Amino acid sequence: MKVIVLGAGVIGVTSAYFLARAGHQVTVLEKNSGAALGCSHANGGQLSYSHVETWATKTSLTSLLKAAIIPSSFLSVSDFFNRNFFYWAREFYKNSSTENAHENSRRLFRLSTYSKKVMEEILAEEKDIKFDYKTRGILHFYRDKKKFDAAIKEAEFHDSIGCKTQILNAEECVKKESSLVKIFDEKKLVGGIFYDSDASGDSFQFTKSLEKICKEKYGVVFEYDTDIKNIFTNYKKITGINSSKGVFTANKYVYALGANGCKLLRGIKINPKIYPLKGYSLSIHADEEFVAPHLAMTDPENKIVYSRLGNIFRVAGTVEACGLRSHQNKKHIAFLKKAVNSTFSDFGNFNQVEEWQGFRPFRPNSIPLICEVKKYGNLFLNSGHGSLGWTLSTASGKILSDLVSDNPDKKFEFLTEEL
Ligand SMILES: Cc1cc2nc3c(=O)[nH]c(=O)nc-3n(C[C@H](O)[C@H](O)[C@H](O)COP(=O)(O)OP(=O)(O)OC[C@H]3O[C@@H](n4cnc5c(N)ncnc54)[C@H](O)[C@@H]3O)c2cc1C
Repeated sequence: MKVIVLGAGVIGVTSAYFLARAGHQVTVLEKNSGAALGCSHANGGQLSYSHVETWATKTSLTSLLKAAIIPSSFLSVSDFFNRNFFYWAREFYKNSSTENAHENSRRLFRLSTYSKKVMEEILAEEKDIKFDYKTRGILHFYRDKKKFDAAIKEAEFHDSIGCKTQILNAEECVKKESSLVKIFDEKKLVGGIFYDSDASGDSFQFTKSLEKICKEKYGVVFEYDTDIKNIFTNYKKITGINSSKGVFTANKYVYALGANGCKLLRGIKINPKIYPLKGYSLSIHADEEFVAPHLAMTDPENKIVYSRLGNIFRVAGTVEACGLRSHQNKKHIAFLKKAVNSTFSDFGNFNQVEEWQGFRPFRPNSIPLICEVKKYGNLFLNSGHGSLGWTLSTASGKILSDLVSDNPDKKFEFLTEEL
């Protein structure tokens, strides 16, 4: 069967990979000149298989509201008058009750556990994938005793659903990652939670490697510099994809355009409830002479993640609700730089740093949509992975491919929504 995948981010490429392995004839359409140049390009690199807390929780709601009024915080909101943002924020609020947040976490954990398994299967099958993959776990460290205590309480819930967590005091955190000695000496480190099953790796390198395998081993065609303008329908099914390179047709179509393509869906009367939450990252050059951290870490109080990807020390985080405006907000870059300076004494060279921004395709409940759009029958969605797209990508590609191949995995029916 002919399948067109829209978008060559980590979600589009994992989808193409599994579709091609299932025997379909796959073409991927992408507006950029290569794969993973959108949100999958320079993200935090964390594969947080066991840290599946959704963003909409009672605690995060309080810290988001506080951050919204503090000018130097990790958050800025300037999209108040956008109707889509308003409806999205209302849904986000509804999902933050403890009951809803816990149910969403349970679902995410099912998906992330599967993602880890599928990642291992891919690595066993495709020996040539290189992406600075490290399976050493992720350490969440805390400076604030109250926030640490609240996180320990939340970890009890995570343990109860099967995540493996380990509570560490400040000394034990430094033993795990010696670069935390600066905040330890300054008596700022109160402790941490270690997630042993987590991992890290470069999502850009992974996607590029998988794209090469898709082309060379499975015959997938990638049409780059192909800007999708609209989706043609006859009101019952999709009849073609209109692009800057003409119209492409297939039997089935997979939407994996992340946050940028939602207007195309709205054009055919589908509202996927995905809002673009912009985030920023720094890729700091850190070769052997620098003692940059080696363990992947998260600073939950500042919503920042740290990963060592080869000779790059990646620092990523912050949240900007500004719609799809592509300007660089200096405040966010300054926030990340300040956090690095105040946390580590040696981390690499600030004179050799790449600044980057990406739009996380965020759903109000943090659960992606991987489903068939009943209205059209031959359209499938694989999008809305928010802050966990890299982590969930491998499961998402597999689940999507099973769905398109009329062999849906019943365990993941919760990823479907009436649209
Ligand atoms: C700062 C930051 C840090 C993050 N850290 C992590 C992390 O540590 N771990 C984790 O799991 N996740 C993380 N994420 C989230 C993760 O990066 C995303 O969820 C994931 O990359 C989304 O992948 P995608 O394929 O859906 O979107 P994208 O990578 O954006 O891919 C969509 C593709 O569609 C293309 N496209 C869009 N519109 C059109 C059009 N009209 N025509 C043709 N092509 C089009 C785009 O060019 C793009 O290539 C982070 C995100 C950010 C911003």
